[in-house]
Amino acid sequence: MIADAAVSLVSFYINGAWERPPGRSSGIIANPATGTVVAEVPYAETDDVDRAVRAAHEAFRQWRDVPVVDRVQVLYRYKGLLEKHAGDLAAILTTENGKTAGDAMAEVRRAIQMVEMACGMPSLMMGDSLNDVAAGIDCKTIRQPIGVCAGITPFNFPAMVPMWMHPFAIACGNTFVLKPSEKVPLTPTYAVQLLHEAGLPPGVMNLVHGAKPAVDALLRHPLVKAVSFVGSTPVAKYVYANAAAAGKRVQALGGAKNHLVVMPDADMPKAVEAIVGSAFGAAGERCLAGSVLVPVGDAAGPLLDLLVARTQAITVGDGSQTGVEMGPLVTSEHCRRVTGYVEKGVEEGAVPLVDGRKHTLPAGDGYFLGPTIFDHVTSWMSIASEEIFGPVLSVMRVETLDDAIALVNRSPYGNATSIFTASGKSAREYSSRCEVGMVGVNVGVAAPMAFFPFAGWKHSFFGDLHAHGKDAVAFYTEQKVIMSRWW
Ligand code: NAD
Repeated sequence: MIADAAVSLVSFYINGAWERPPGRSSGIIANPATGTVVAEVPYAETDDVDRAVRAAHEAFRQWRDVPVVDRVQVLYRYKGLLEKHAGDLAAILTTENGKTAGDAMAEVRRAIQMVEMACGMPSLMMGDSLNDVAAGIDCKTIRQPIGVCAGITPFNFPAMVPMWMHPFAIACGNTFVLKPSEKVPLTPTYAVQLLHEAGLPPGVMNLVHGAKPAVDALLRHPLVKAVSFVGSTPVAKYVYANAAAAGKRVQALGGAKNHLVVMPDADMPKAVEAIVGSAFGAAGERCLAGSVLVPVGDAAGPLLDLLVARTQAITVGDGSQTGVEMGPLVTSEHCRRVTGYVEKGVEEGAVPLVDGRKHTLPAGDGYFLGPTIFDHVTSWMSIASEEIFGPVLSVMRVETLDDAIALVNRSPYGNATSIFTASGKSAREYSSRCEVGMVGVNVGVAAPMAFFPFAGWKHSFFGDLHAHGKDAVAFYTEQKVIMSRWW
């Protein structure tokens, strides 16, 4: 059964109007907690993407000249509407993604913080100036918008990740075409509806849905000047290579395999709470999720005893219900894939301390898998190195901090990592020597706030300028130097 209210949300938004062109192929969105179909999403064809890009190109002619103080007024109104409808947005997010109500609201709050930061664009866009760089000559830098920007986003943060992009791009004077994940189209659609209500002129923001063909149409389009991508590493590499080859500015954030290092001197009960939140929060579907636990020396014994007991007590269920700590995985296909990794871990000889397949799971047709912990994982096992993107934690024991650093630095990924310790010296050494973009010290999920940049290293990121923070201002603007002399 398709719920009418949800279906009415899934449309394209092109040039300020909602449209659902007939004859497009489509995908079905099911509530992952129940398997109930809640919506149908149309997939954009090349023509749809072309219309969206042309509308954005046309709107750019006026929007670029609207004073920045006036541009951000729309974002102030957007922020107000997001605050007012935060509960609805979070509920939609839980319905299509499965994360708990608490996780969904936390994501919405983070999304709103992005808009708040973008509201500061009049200060953030300021350039530098110096008079008399030579006799009678003054010099200044200015930042100008670049044109039509495109955003391609993943399924796991449908409220927040699009906000890493369009509020900054629009505040800088660009226009935007968003192509969110076809698995979770409802949340970004609702957010764009609020942006429309906030009074954004037609064409400044556009929304198309779909999969690879829609992405390819954006990458090929000559009027798209910049591409922001967040998703898995193979697609990030593809987007980076193709957008760059087409002469576009590009930032492509990829996948992750994040290590949580625990020193013997760590506060174990507090570390365990942080590790459980990191590994099993949002069912492990976070690019910042801890997926390899690295106990150093004697840390393993006390740590694992506490961790296993806490993990076995996790309540798995429908994320919309109170008291549920972990929701389902996003789709039945993804649930099968993650369960396949649990089977592989057993086959490859890792020792399951907690087996998610045997956890108490809700009855019905939801896509549930309980939290899983494997001990004695060795580097040749697939669960040691491949991104699983589910509630599976692999324990790799090491003797020293040097061993931990070597292990972490052997990973092809470098998105996030954490160290748990009471020693400032160990924390400092680890933070300095690990080849990772985002580091937590006694923090399980090292998620930078809106005003700091967000991205990993190595195969977790392709590009130069990271997401949000001051990098977003640099990414969404061209810099120009003006030298003036007046006779
Ligand atoms: P995904 O790569 O499958 O999809 C991301 C986007 O790319 C979607 O919009 C999708 O429609 C599109 N896409 C998928 N396959 C494509 C193809 N072959 N060609 C062109 N476009 C394609 O990622 P996902 O499963 O939606 O999200 C999970 C992944 O995202 C994980 O790997 C996770 O680590 C990563 N992620 C990274 C960050 C970060 O900050 N580095 C943040 C969130 C998620």
